[in-house]
Amino acid sequence: MQIYDVIVVGAGIAGCSSAYFLKQKGLDVLILDRSGVASTGGSAAAGAFVSPKIGKGSSLQSLTNEAFEFAKDFYLQNFPEHFKQTGVVRIPKDRDDSKKFVEYDEFNTSHVEYLEGHRLLAKGIHQAMSSFYFDEAGVCDAPKMCQALITDIPYVQYEVKSLEYENSLWIVDKYRAKKLVLSTGYENRFVDMRYMGVKGTWGTRGDYETSIDLDISMHQKISISANIEGIVKVGATHEKEVDVCIRCDGEPLKNIFKIASEMVDTSDFRLKETFCGMRSGSKDYFPLLGSVIDVSTMLTKYPKLPRGQKLKDAPEKLENLYVCNGLGGRGFVFAPMMGQMLAENIVEGKEIDKRVNPDRLFLKWCRKSPDLER
Ligand SMILES: Cc1cc2nc3c(=O)[nH]c(=O)nc-3n(C[C@H](O)[C@H](O)[C@H](O)COP(=O)(O)OP(=O)(O)OC[C@H]3O[C@@H](n4cnc5c(N)ncnc54)[C@H](O)[C@@H]3O)c2cc1C
Repeated sequence: MQIYDVIVVGAGIAGCSSAYFLKQKGLDVLILDRSGVASTGGSAAAGAFVSPKIGKGSSLQSLTNEAFEFAKDFYLQNFPEHFKQTGVVRIPKDRDDSKKFVEYDEFNTSHVEYLEGHRLLAKGIHQAMSSFYFDEAGVCDAPKMCQALITDIPYVQYEVKSLEYENSLWIVDKYRAKKLVLSTGYENRFVDMRYMGVKGTWGTRGDYETSIDLDISMHQKISISANIEGIVKVGATHEKEVDVCIRCDGEPLKNIFKIASEMVDTSDFRLKETFCGMRSGSKDYFPLLGSVIDVSTMLTKYPKLPRGQKLKDAPEKLENLYVCNGLGGRGFVFAPMMGQMLAENIVEGKEIDKRVNPDRLFLKWCRKSPDLER
């Protein structure tokens, strides 16, 4: 029986990027997903825009924008056929938001232009408010990108129901590996990872056939892609803190389409396909990357943690278990950088960036979690 170096569970953009970089470092990787490569979940529903974050220079903004620079260079160099650098216009949500854009400008670290209303109109966008135009941003073809990332990696459609760790090996039914990466999105039924505070946000996307002349993509309350090969993608996430998938009945898409019709000419749009899915976010909106704390051992060993006890040493971990998750609304922006960091950690022992290491959330969770004995 083959023993893999790593099994990655979940073939969304997080799992596929992790698998790609681990394979690049020479490891034998197997990837498992219950429903196909980016065929359900957040990665199937995503419009997959890759654009910078705007704001007043928070640390989440700087991390996102580091990840943006990494992702667009990575996609352009390695998979240019699945990443279209259409440029993305970031339009203020309303007049108040528009005033904030003036303050945001100094914190834009990527190449940006200010487009005024008449220039937006000339590009087919019905908006009077001046907007940021990030010409290096773009849009991925999500399933094709995920498939391309794992071209040389064995993939099996398989629903993981339980995990065992015996004799230094992870056992998933008939598959064995020295290490395991969980990239299962908003779901986790295997190990206690409550401290990471993963929450689902539900969203909908419609792909419309059209001959509209629209060569740039845009974000406002919703996202509208450029016309790429006769298809415009229109989508948004709209239900926060959801635990189970909602029925994908096309209802929210009607609202999303109504907003789109105020932004671009949708008169010849014909709905080709509807996608729905859940994206997973962490408590503090930063990604979750690295090893997993052994929660039950820690709570037994340090029973006063819920009452504020401090730790002198690093928390104990579940052996050879890793997570790449919590990529929020920017999975296609964060995933390549996270995949590389994880591979450098696993193969070269390089420390995981503290901003994304899930350990950051553990002590706070112990103190704030009402279901822990005090
Ligand atoms: C409507 C919408 C629009 C979005 N737009 C953008 C955007 O424009 N740009 C952007 O960057 N991001 C966007 N996102 C966010 C992005 O989709 C997510 O951040 C990203 O897809 C998360 O990827 P993931 O691999 O972590 O999770 P998922 O893509 O959810 O992948 C998890 C995978 O794990 C598998 N799995 C779960 N449990 C098991 C099990 N027990 N056994 C086997 N397999 C299992 C699932 O089948 C699934 O394939 C959007 C999200 C939505 C919903």
